[in-house]
Amino acid sequence: MKITRFLIGFARSLVFLFRRPIYVTLMGGPGAGKGTVAQTLAPELGLAHLSTGALMRREVEKKTPLGQSIEKIMKAGKLVPDEIVFKLLEQELERPANWRGAILDGFPRTRAQAEWLTALFGKWHTRLTVAVQLEVPEADIIERLSGRRVCSNTSCGTTYHVTFNPPKTEGVCDKCQSALMQRADDKPEVVLARLVEYRAAQAPILAYYGEVGGLWSIHTTNKNTPAQVLANVKSAVLASSKR
Ligand code: ADP
Ligand code: ADP
Ligand code: ZN
Repeated sequence: MKITRFLIGFARSLVFLFRRPIYVTLMGGPGAGKGTVAQTLAPELGLAHLSTGALMRREVEKKTPLGQSIEKIMKAGKLVPDEIVFKLLEQELERPANWRGAILDGFPRTRAQAEWLTALFGKWHTRLTVAVQLEVPEADIIERLSGRRVCSNTSCGTTYHVTFNPPKTEGVCDKCQSALMQRADDKPEVVLARLVEYRAAQAPILAYYGEVGGLWSIHTTNKNTPAQVLANVKSAVLASSKR
């Protein structure tokens, strides 16, 4: 087991030596547009789209004891404990298919998570390309989350909005034709709890990236189309990957 990990680590170092991976974190409150940006930008840049929220939802779907405890936490609008998130995310980042790099959607959410990520990339002799923060007024967030619809097929998980980003056929995913649904944690009372969690964690994490560098903030409202936001994030990533 140990020798396999060593060999995989060695192979990864060789790959990274010749082609520096691109790692982007997309941060922002619930409904800030992280998933919408990542689901288009990741395939455009040939990167993996790793949403920690989606990783959690996949565990919940398995109905294991771990999944059941995650479900309770998510329904309360709280953050899942770090050890669970770290393990699932590291497993994904370690996959050779994801060695070109990844867009991390919804991670890090606390300063401790940001520090963990810096340490992981340091261990791999690489670093974060850019930390993108999407800033959206809270009134716009509420409007977005109340109209958000997601594909019920969790291995697809494409996100839509009933007015801002509707599917071609109402209630049906453009990509896989599965039914669209409303997320359990998009109910108004859970949204408020998630906003409280977000507000508490946001300042320390922005301060952290302010100290270590690489922070790129983008202000958007519901008047900016998803395509405009995507273009802004893409230029941030491309400019930062040349650093
Ligand atoms: P949103 O983008 O609307 O904030 P996500 O899908 O990113 O929603 O996250 C849904 C839920 O999954 C969060 O409210 C939290 O319970 C859990 N979660 C997602 N990412 C993390 C993380 N980095 N740390 C802890 N919990 C997380
Ligand atoms: P997050 O992943 O940050 O929680 P999402 O990408 O799921 O956010 O977006 C939340 C909701 O807002 C979705 O219904 C999405 O279609 C919609 N949305 C995303 N970007 C925009 C935008 N620029 N303007 C209006 N609505 C948007
Ligand atoms: Zn789908």
